[in-house]
Amino acid sequence: MPSRRPSRRTQPHVPLDVDRVMRGVARIERRGGAEWHVQPMSAAAAAKDYVCPGCGGAVQRGTAHVVVWRADSIFGERAIEDRRHWHTGCWRAG
Ligand SMILES: [Zn+2]
Repeated sequence: MPSRRPSRRTQPHVPLDVDRVMRGVARIERRGGAEWHVQPMSAAAAAKDYVCPGCGGAVQRGTAHVVVWRADSIFGERAIEDRRHWHTGCWRAG
């Protein structure tokens, strides 16, 4: 008997590794005609090294920085997967 699985895509599910990021409240900034979620990440929560898209340098673990992803994407979960870690100063200077 065929069965249809209900789509879960519309649920506001957030991947586990983002939970720590979500402890703060992301603000929305408008830049370049797009809206972006900008989430401050504390030094304690920065457990990995990242590459900053602003300067191409490393955002080293233990460094407070910001996580940025598209706020207006129709691919909500995809946008979170595509989030970028910026040096706070690089994002502000952007
Ligand atoms: Zn940078």
